[in-house]
Amino acid sequence: MITIAIANQKGGVGKTTTAVNLATALAATGWRTLLVDCDPQGNASTGLGVSSGERKLSSYDVLVDDASIASAIHSTGIPKLDLVPATVDLSGAEVELVDVPHRTGRMRQALSTHSGHDICFIDCPPSLGLLTLNALCAANTLLVPLQCEFFALEGLSQLLQTVEQVRERFNPSLGIIGVALTMFDKRNRLTDQVSDDVRDCLGDLVFESVIPRNVRLSEAPSHGVPALIYDHSCRGSRAYMALARELIGRLPAERAAA
Ligand code: ATP
Ligand code: MG
Repeated sequence: MITIAIANQKGGVGKTTTAVNLATALAATGWRTLLVDCDPQGNASTGLGVSSGERKLSSYDVLVDDASIASAIHSTGIPKLDLVPATVDLSGAEVELVDVPHRTGRMRQALSTHSGHDICFIDCPPSLGLLTLNALCAANTLLVPLQCEFFALEGLSQLLQTVEQVRERFNPSLGIIGVALTMFDKRNRLTDQVSDDVRDCLGDLVFESVIPRNVRLSEAPSHGVPALIYDHSCRGSRAYMALARELIGRLPAERAAA
């Protein structure tokens, strides 16, 4: 199984929207796909129509109580796409794990014994705390959604420093599969400028597909379905399908490294 963490410590940059729609696109392409919601906000879970009222196990039980991934899987109603949901309990996990040995390796441990999926996406919270560290330690590679705005690159350097530390201490083979530009607004000159700067700075690491600002993408979660299902032909959905094709093209290298 290839595991991809979707992380950026900046809030609201499109991590969850990217995780949900890429996971849906890969499932539609035939990959047995697992999405692990590692954010106490549980946005990926509600976005897939799984509410916290359904008291089955969640990512909290995996991280804190040694529950297996298999025991925490919920089906999403979308063929080949399964979810390990998150609930608000997860916000306590950072504190509860403080004295636990190998506390950054809990998700890695759980995923390493899991079979039955070809690919796993982990949706991270907007911080570089223990939850994101668990995701980075468990992942083969990282995908960074980057919103085209003024401080985008500043936040990125902090994230890259963290990746370097994770490589040195816990997960030497952690790769970066790419940076995806999100909420691109072609009417906004600043967005264009930032996108050019990011490409100058990061080169081929930046995916060619750019996700436009698109209201259909923001409407879909309130219906409990991914945008790709809510309106598969809107600009946002088409952009995520193009991004998924590019991602699949980059996966063989990750599989070789895994
Ligand atoms: P958080 O850091 O809180 O977890 P996030 O990085 O996961 O946030 P999202 O939840 O994906 O970001 O997006 C933030 C908000 O912007 C959501 O309301 C989402 O529906 C909306 N949104 C995301 N991408 C787009 C887009 N391309 N066009 C329009 N709205 C978008
Ligand atoms: Mg999110």
